[in-house]
Amino acid sequence: MYNTDETRLFSAKAKNGLCSHAYIVDGAAGIGKLDFALECARTMLCTEKDKPCGYCESCRKALSGNHPDIHIVGDEKTAQIADIREIIRKSSLKPNDSEKQIFIVCNAGKLRAESQNALLKLFEEPPETVAIFLLTESRSSLLPTVLSRGQRIHLDGMRDSELEELLLQKNPLISRNELRSAIETACGNYGIAEKYLSKASQTVRVKAETLLTLAISKKSYELGVALITPKYKRDQISAILNEFVAIVNSSLKAKYGIKNNYIFASEECKNLASSATKRALAKMGESATVCLQALEKNANVTASASKLMIDLLSAAAR
Ligand SMILES: [Zn+2]
Repeated sequence: MYNTDETRLFSAKAKNGLCSHAYIVDGAAGIGKLDFALECARTMLCTEKDKPCGYCESCRKALSGNHPDIHIVGDEKTAQIADIREIIRKSSLKPNDSEKQIFIVCNAGKLRAESQNALLKLFEEPPETVAIFLLTESRSSLLPTVLSRGQRIHLDGMRDSELEELLLQKNPLISRNELRSAIETACGNYGIAEKYLSKASQTVRVKAETLLTLAISKKSYELGVALITPKYKRDQISAILNEFVAIVNSSLKAKYGIKNNYIFASEECKNLASSATKRALAKMGESATVCLQALEKNANVTASASKLMIDLLSAAAR
């Protein structure tokens, strides 16, 4: 479970009837705010003593995502004033089958002032049968009036050991190396770890490492085949080059003895990067960055890739 300490504290308070009606949950993107709020909602609505039990009718409905008294808004796109009015309307009704209705507003920091103001009254004095969770990446994006009304819960993410356990559970076939990289990169943030492990981002990483390997070993023909022949779309090549820059930066950090998070997928690339000169690496990173900037300004993709190839080879000669 995410954010174990906060979850335990919430559950302990709930058992003693100490739940508030208005919460502001903040933490970085991907840290598990919605999962945390859902766990709190299950805890508040659970009908057993050991909350959330996971097997009472309420828990089962909540776990299947079909609890009629748990309402999530703004998850996929920022809630609009109409969504907020709908919350206010529903909040005046009786709960469907529990003692409370729970409203979870995702991305609350992105709500327009008009929406935040509309929410304020409900947030200040919710009916007995209502609890509201506002989720936000940063508290400062909420209006001070809203901020002053809710109980604040800050989420720091997971301990490495917790993250490891969860990642293994969800990705049972993951290799030791990948697991270690994901944990190091994520700094407790489950969302980042999952993104790191996703197939798409692994493919990008392998392609970026291939470019670096070929550039450092000055294999111009193969570099052309890897960089130009696939006729990448703008966003594809940009993703690969962004990763390329990240790898080069990590390699440079390693050379300067600065701690870094990147763990190579390819041993060959790792060895080559550590044998390349700082100057060559720096030039390669610079060339890729220049190429990225050109692509952003709508430069022709094939022409940009061809220029980058020449720049990388000339950097490798340093
Ligand atoms: Zn239960």
